[in-house]
Amino acid sequence: MKKFNKTYLVFSLLLLAVAGIALIVQHQGSSKYIFNEGKAHGTYYHATYLQPQGIDLQKKLEESMHRIDLSMSTFQPQSIISRINRNDETVRTDIYFETVFRTAQEVSAKTNGAFDITVAPLVNAWGFGFGSESRKQCPNIDSIMLFIGYKKISLKQHQLVKADKRIMLDASAIAKGFSSDMAAKVLEENGCKNYLVEIGGEIVCKGKNPKGEKWKIGIDKPIDDSTNVVNQIQTIISLSDKAMATSGNYRQFYYRNGKKFSHTIDPRTGYPVNNNVLSATVVAPSCMMADAYATAFMVLGVDSSLLVCKSLPEVDCYLIYSDKNGKNRVIFTEGFKKYLTE
Ligand code: ADP
Ligand code: MG
Repeated sequence: MKKFNKTYLVFSLLLLAVAGIALIVQHQGSSKYIFNEGKAHGTYYHATYLQPQGIDLQKKLEESMHRIDLSMSTFQPQSIISRINRNDETVRTDIYFETVFRTAQEVSAKTNGAFDITVAPLVNAWGFGFGSESRKQCPNIDSIMLFIGYKKISLKQHQLVKADKRIMLDASAIAKGFSSDMAAKVLEENGCKNYLVEIGGEIVCKGKNPKGEKWKIGIDKPIDDSTNVVNQIQTIISLSDKAMATSGNYRQFYYRNGKKFSHTIDPRTGYPVNNNVLSATVVAPSCMMADAYATAFMVLGVDSSLLVCKSLPEVDCYLIYSDKNGKNRVIFTEGFKKYLTE
């Protein structure tokens, strides 16, 4: 789950923020939006919300993110997922793990295995992820492929059953989205009806922004930059009562012998994706789904992604890809049009 902002919130008030400090922002009339930000899941989170009594919910939000780390972070040795990866026989799954697991398996089935949480050994072998190996050599993919595949795992009475002990899981492409959903739940349970919460670019928003409009969210131009400092906006979308996530290969990649290796792996071939999709933005009813489908669409390529979207109610995508002449193009589903403000 290592990554820095890929989605730039077009909300000038955010610029007033100081890390870790909650700001109460007075805006138009008496509405007081509270702004929180901090670190979570190896990235940054931001939350902007209207709490009717003016109660600051930062502690509760951070507790929620911490609970999810204890379940699904591969960077926490004692998390449930890490214990599963070590074949600890005493580990039992919790409700967070089970919710994410079921959605992950559903997305795998709907995308013909383009999304797959058993991808962990490949992610590590290619030099990304929690057990990263050297990026200098080409890993032996054929031998690793023997224990890759979402059909080789299942859940039985709060235990994860593996067809092969070498199977390891990586929930990085879905857990941040789930954590954004859970943060939104915290806000809802505490009386908020107008909010935007974002963890590393995975967003859930509801109601209105402090200007009384829908939330305005910028989609990054996919410019290769592994230092995370370049931020140019491709387009701005207007969103409310929805979740959104973007995946791309313009932040997490490396070059070897002049060839680019990205952190999105095609679990069916074992190799980093090498198609013409530069970024995939997905709007969905839950951020967990948006997150997982955005990763899947990076693997599937333009045509298959649009087809999958058509078969899924309330899931829309906006893809930026490179055409035959190397020029950036965009394509989006019919349903995405309503979110575009330009
Ligand atoms: P980000 O972490 O930048 O939000 P993603 O949501 O696309 O990006 O997640 C990418 C991460 O997911 C990779 O770093 C890797 O850990 C894991 N991953 C890579 N390929 C796949 C895949 N095909 N299916 C599921 N997880 C993947
Ligand atoms: Mg994802």
